[in-house]
Amino acid sequence: MDIKNLTIEKAGEMMQKGELTSVDLVSACLKNIEEKNKELNIFLEVFSDALEQAKKADEIIKSGQGTLLTGIPLAIKDNILITGRKVSAGSKMLENYVASYDAYLIKKLKEAGAVFIGRTNMDEFAMGSSTENSAYGVVKNPIDPTRVPGGSSGGSTASVVAGMALGALGTDTGGSIRQPASFCGLVGMKPSYGGVSRNGTMAMSSSLDQIGPVAKTVEDAKIIFDCIVGKDEMDSTSIEINSENKSGKKIGVPRNWLKEGVDIEIIKNFEESLEKLKKQGYEIVDIDLPYSKFSLAVYYILMPAEVSTNLSRLDGVRYGLRKEGENMFDTYKKSRSAGFGAETRRRIILGSYVLSHGYYDAYYNKAWKVRHVIEKEFEDIFKKVDFIATPTTPTPAFKFGEKKDPLQMYLSDIFTVPANISGIPSISIPCGFSSSGLPFGLQFMTSMKNDKNIFSISIDFEKNK
Ligand code: GLN
Repeated sequence: MDIKNLTIEKAGEMMQKGELTSVDLVSACLKNIEEKNKELNIFLEVFSDALEQAKKADEIIKSGQGTLLTGIPLAIKDNILITGRKVSAGSKMLENYVASYDAYLIKKLKEAGAVFIGRTNMDEFAMGSSTENSAYGVVKNPIDPTRVPGGSSGGSTASVVAGMALGALGTDTGGSIRQPASFCGLVGMKPSYGGVSRNGTMAMSSSLDQIGPVAKTVEDAKIIFDCIVGKDEMDSTSIEINSENKSGKKIGVPRNWLKEGVDIEIIKNFEESLEKLKKQGYEIVDIDLPYSKFSLAVYYILMPAEVSTNLSRLDGVRYGLRKEGENMFDTYKKSRSAGFGAETRRRIILGSYVLSHGYYDAYYNKAWKVRHVIEKEFEDIFKKVDFIATPTTPTPAFKFGEKKDPLQMYLSDIFTVPANISGIPSISIPCGFSSSGLPFGLQFMTSMKNDKNIFSISIDFEKNK
């Protein structure tokens, strides 16, 4: 079975017709895992009951009760809770932590009969752009194992390219679904903030986090999205997205984003993608987004502030790793020093600093004000255009160790972070390859709650590839 090229759509169809079973699919994924996981380090755990789940799914399909996702093997990022299973967020701190309830989206996927094949490696607490920050070793990009798969959902995206799952779930706080999808030649989508309930997904930065699908095609990503989207009373930020798809055909291009630090081949490929869209009847106009260039600066104040707050509960007393000290503070210090990696500690320190008395107004409050200006800038621009298009990343997948300077690493999210700052939906879709065979991603953004529109333009583009 050519599982590396099999889509969820096709597999679902074949299962409905009785040409394929979930047990066949899951066995094929397990075989690829068996062969390649040691080298690529994609799964932190393969669930021992995956075949059991597949058998149950096959019975549901036989009884005629199946959905589009019944029997489809999915990989789950290691920060999404599944009852009774370990969930470590790629950290030593939570190495043996077992989830006591299902995340909202897990409940939905279970109801749909999806099969969970295992939990995927990630940057610790979703902080990173390369999966080099995992406490359990780096994930290698299956397309070129000398390169990173992107991050922080690098394990989830790599699992789909490597034929170890047909689709995957990731989280995106500043680009962690879209950037690795782009590095691995896949589709990755970040819903409108609140579109998918965050209940049961570990918080990195609560005002920015969203959960979304990774898949080979836009249709596949949409199948997963349609299953997990919806209002949930357990998440007070949860919203209902617009049910209609009524977008026009005007695409804005923020030329000022593309001026510096973008790979020449990426620019060339991006222009070619715009030409294709024009041929499909889309109108391309230049737009000016003067404040959006501050998105990354705002992100690196607000995000660490929220990280330092969210991770304060991991203190060696309530959850996770405990290293006994001489007194309570010593226990906190020893536990947190042993449990957290360098990047996590860097962000906790940064976050505590911007929230501290005396600096709060200068940094944290100021950043929130600028965030509102950026939100307004996007709101206004979407009165003039229906979509914004940019490359997903300024470079294709880079080599391990290439971005040792954290600031260099942070710049890989320059195009993806603005959608998190403003909460709008955004997608990365494959749009070609570099001269050395590395995939490129095209990013679309649209106005708040119009997630459906993003799928329709992406399906249009995909048809014409
Ligand atoms: N790479 C970004 C960061 O390190 C985004 C992470 C994410 O989206 N989870 O913060």
